[in-house]
Amino acid sequence: MSSHSSAGAPRLSRRVAVIGAGAAGLVAARELRSEGHDVTVLEQSPYVGGVWRYDPRTEAEDLLGVNPDRCRVHGSMYEKLRTNLPRELMSFLDFPFDSAFLGPNYSSDPRRFCGHAEVLGYLDAFADRFELRPLVRTHTRVLSVETAAEAAQAEAGAQPTPAAAELGAAAEAGPGWVVTSQRLAGHGPETGGAQSHGQGAVGGSGGAAEASAVSAGNSAAGAGQGQSAASAAPAAVDRELYDAVVVCNGHYSEPRLPYVRGMSRDVGGRSDGAFPGQQLHSHNYRSAGEWRGKVVLVVGASNSGEDISRELSAGGAARVLLSAWSWKNDAWGADAAPYGPGGNIYRFPMVSELHTDGSATFADGRVEGPIDAVIYCTGYRYSFPFLRGAAAAAARVEDNCVGPLWLHMLPPDPRLAPGLSFVGLPWKVVPFPQFQLQSKLIARLLSGRVQLPSREQMDADIAAHFEAMQTQGLPMRYVHMQGQQQFTYNDLLVRLCGPDVAPLPRWRAELNRIIGAYKRERPEDYRDVNLATTSPDAAAALAAAAED
Ligand code: FAD
Repeated sequence: MSSHSSAGAPRLSRRVAVIGAGAAGLVAARELRSEGHDVTVLEQSPYVGGVWRYDPRTEAEDLLGVNPDRCRVHGSMYEKLRTNLPRELMSFLDFPFDSAFLGPNYSSDPRRFCGHAEVLGYLDAFADRFELRPLVRTHTRVLSVETAAEAAQAEAGAQPTPAAAELGAAAEAGPGWVVTSQRLAGHGPETGGAQSHGQGAVGGSGGAAEASAVSAGNSAAGAGQGQSAASAAPAAVDRELYDAVVVCNGHYSEPRLPYVRGMSRDVGGRSDGAFPGQQLHSHNYRSAGEWRGKVVLVVGASNSGEDISRELSAGGAARVLLSAWSWKNDAWGADAAPYGPGGNIYRFPMVSELHTDGSATFADGRVEGPIDAVIYCTGYRYSFPFLRGAAAAAARVEDNCVGPLWLHMLPPDPRLAPGLSFVGLPWKVVPFPQFQLQSKLIARLLSGRVQLPSREQMDADIAAHFEAMQTQGLPMRYVHMQGQQQFTYNDLLVRLCGPDVAPLPRWRAELNRIIGAYKRERPEDYRDVNLATTSPDAAAALAAAAED
């Protein structure tokens, strides 16, 4: 895998739209600006921080999240969530996540595995420290992203207008992107964030067309964190021309559900005559109180399933049945003792059917019930509802595999890349530092400091990745899953960026490995283990982190 460095060549400054002001969008904005680009971050909510801003609202009318037209809430955090990574690991590369360093304005929780408010404080501090807020246009939902050529074609097909002529000229001048966004009425920018760029606006924008100018299916009024304001007044729509678009819209908002016979998948998560209990996806779980005294089936035993079943147990649920594909017969057979803070979590293999009498059958034939509620902790789907035409085709999602994309970031098509890129797709990773490395590489590709390899090379790299997965027997949906391999990937990003970017210090991989082992061995209290005294290896990694 290679790319070319163009040392000495003049750096190009591009007009770049970043979609989303979560951790990925913030660090992308910073890296792009450092490289000399002109950056606008478009963020639908009134804030920066993305999922780390706890949102108590749920998608109450559709708790399973099956209706594509539902009123959406971006957030998936639950009230008492604590991080599953220590703060040393979570931090960006050059901005320590240290409660003492952050100071009282941002820090409220000095624990190593802290609550969500502390992470938000860190991201707020990051935005302030690097003066990113002026780049962020809040209350702005991106409705569509298309190439200038496609936009020009559509305009020309409709009627010859000045906007069509402008787009036609832009399309001829080179690859460009038309971003259509909706300004959600009723809010001003959070702190005087970026305004529409007059020179980049297409079709007299910078001012606004009415919402009716946007095709009905896309207007999505009512979605996301600005929803009530959005529906209060007609929203303004901007169409702007950018040289590049970096997609940072997050991937923990669209529920992924298994199919269980007898489950209701109708809107509302209510029964369609089959299972009579409540059903929801963990996206809509906020706290355990509602299930005090109830029997709850939790489906999926990854991070959320483990955490939520413990919360329910501690919160007074009568019984928690934790069902997962990864059920190990030996450890959790029918005779295994219940566990958890309330001593009432029972492990089961995957649930195979839900019944009209409220009971459930599991893959080993056991039947349990009645069950009051099912919480599906079965992960999320990638979704890019705003991509159109060639961009949508390049990032189609099949079995939760996006693309395919080169390095999980770029379409292997020189007509689209590096103008269209994605930050933050890999999962089972330490996200913030990886976002930063991905952003550095994208910034350098856009400035011309680093060149993309040939299309053949990118295709060959993608094929090699799929072959390696096949050899390991992994299905497509694991294509963006990295685990400990993330550190090899991060090293590759560093190499591609060029010699002035330092490799990630080794303590990061080491601490991640140690924490992973603790999490598996003692899921109930790994967050509260005193790492510095329990394990010499962890103590050494933490000491190296403190010196870094
Ligand atoms: P997000 O934070 O989701 O930000 C995306 C932003 O894009 C949002 O602000 C959204 O409003 C905006 N947006 C989306 N669509 C549009 C649009 N059309 N127009 C304009 N704006 C748009 N990570 C850890 O490191 N440690 C943890 O312990 C941890 N725990 C987690 C627990 C839960 C329950 C969840 C859900 C995630 C957890 N994560 C954890 C992962 C977390 O998602 C990442 O840390 C990171 O915050 C993701 O950042 P992001 O910017 O990619 O996405």
